[in-house]
Amino acid sequence: MNSTVRHGGEGEGVQGVAILGSTGSIGASTLQVLELHPERFRVTALTAHRNVQVLYRQCKRWKPRHAVLADPDRAEELARQLRLELPEVEVLGGVEALRQVAAAPESDCVIAAIVGAAGLEPTLAAAHAGKRLLLANKEALVMAGELFMRAVVEGGGELLPVDSEHNALFQCLPGKSAHAGTWGVRRLLLTASGGPFRDWSAARLAEVTPEQACRHPNWSMGPKISVDSATMMNKGLEVIEACHLFAVAPERVQVVVHPQSIVHSLVEYLDGSMLAQLSRPDMRTPIAHALAWPRRMDAGVDFLELARAGPLEFEDPDEERFPCLRLARAALERGATAPAVLNAANEEAVAAFLDGRLRFPDIFRVIEAVLEVQPIAPADTLEQVREADRQARASAARHIQERMECKN
Ligand code: NAD
Ligand code: MG
Repeated sequence: MNSTVRHGGEGEGVQGVAILGSTGSIGASTLQVLELHPERFRVTALTAHRNVQVLYRQCKRWKPRHAVLADPDRAEELARQLRLELPEVEVLGGVEALRQVAAAPESDCVIAAIVGAAGLEPTLAAAHAGKRLLLANKEALVMAGELFMRAVVEGGGELLPVDSEHNALFQCLPGKSAHAGTWGVRRLLLTASGGPFRDWSAARLAEVTPEQACRHPNWSMGPKISVDSATMMNKGLEVIEACHLFAVAPERVQVVVHPQSIVHSLVEYLDGSMLAQLSRPDMRTPIAHALAWPRRMDAGVDFLELARAGPLEFEDPDEERFPCLRLARAALERGATAPAVLNAANEEAVAAFLDGRLRFPDIFRVIEAVLEVQPIAPADTLEQVREADRQARASAARHIQERMECKN
C-alpha cells in the first residue's frame, strides 16, 4: 500500500479557490466554510450546470473573476444580468470553459463538486495543472482511477479527499510515510449509514418513491448521491474510490454499516489498533479539514457531545437486499473500463428512477444487464473512458426502455 495522495507544505497568504459545482450541496457547504475565513481565502471561480438564479446570487456575494455555466444559453443569460452590475466578473459558457477555469493561474485550490461524469474533465484539468484538488466528485475517480491518479502525480499538486469517509481515512492514516511496510495498515473500514431503507424488506423496496429515496436520515445531499446512498451504490463507488486514493487492494477495504453516521471510517493496523474519525454528519467538517490541511480551522459546525450521541452501532451490510455493493466490487475486480461502465449505467438508471421511469429495484437490474453485455476495454486514455461511458449510456437507455414497456 502506498499513497499517491500528496502531502505538501503550509500555504501562505490568501488562497484563490475555484468551486466547480458551486450551486450544489457541496458547493453551498464550501461557501459557508469560506464565509468564516475571509482573510485566508478568496473565491476565484464559481461554476454550475444551468442554475442562473443561484449563480447570479453567488456572483453578487463573492465577486469571482470567472463564472461558468456549462449550458452556453444560460451563460448568455447570466452575462446579460451581470454586465452592468458586475462587469469585473467574466461569464463563460460550455465545457471547455470549465476546464479553463479549473486550470487558471489565479486558483491555488479547486473544489471538485460537480456531480457525475460531467466532472471528470474539469477535475482532470485541475489535476494536470498541479492544483490543490479537493475531491468530492467521486465519479471522476471511479471512471478513470488510474488516469486520474497519474494526472495528480504528473501535475505535482495535492489531492485531498472531501468525501467524508475518505477524508476520515486520510485523517487516520499516518501522514508522512509512503509505504505499506512503514504504515502497518491491515484494512480500511468504510462506514455506511445504510441509507433510508436499511431495515426495509425486499417487498417494500420495490415500492420506493424518489421522494423517499431523497430523504436521507443523517445527511442532506444532492438527489443523485441520495439515491446512490439508498441503493448503497454510493458505498460501492466509495470502495473503488478508496482503492485508488490510498493504493490498496480491494480485499483490504471493508464496508461496515453504522446507522448513526458519527464514525466516518476507520483504519485498522497490524498491531490490532483501530483509529477512527468522529464528528457530526456535516460535510463542512471534511471540507474545512481539506481547505486548511495540514492545519485546522473552524468549520462552523456544532461540536459532538458524545454523552448525548447515543449508542454507536455497527453491522455487516446486507448484499442480498442491496446488491449494488456486490456489483461495484465485481467491476473493480474486472478493472479496465468496467468501473466506467458501472458508473455510466448507474447515472442513467438513477436519472430514470428520479424521473419516475424506473422502479427502485430496477436500478440494480439495469446496471447488471449493462455490465453483462458491454465489452470491457483498456482504460489507458481519456478517449477510451469516454467511449465506454457513451456505450454504457446507450445500452442503459435500451434496458430502461425495455423495463418501461414491461411496466406499462
Ligand atoms: P448536487 O446535485 O447538489 O450539485 C451538483 C453540482 O454540479 C451543481 O452545482 C450543478 O450545477 C453541477 N452540475 C451538475 N451537472 C453538471 C454538468 N453537466 N456540467 C457542469 N456542472 C454540473 O450534488 P452534491 O450532492 O453537491 O454532490 C456533488 C459531488 O460530491 C458528487 O459527486 C457527490 O457524489 C459528491 N459528494 C457529495 C456529498 C454530499 O453530502 N452532498 C458527500 C460526499 C460526496
Ligand atoms: Mg461518502
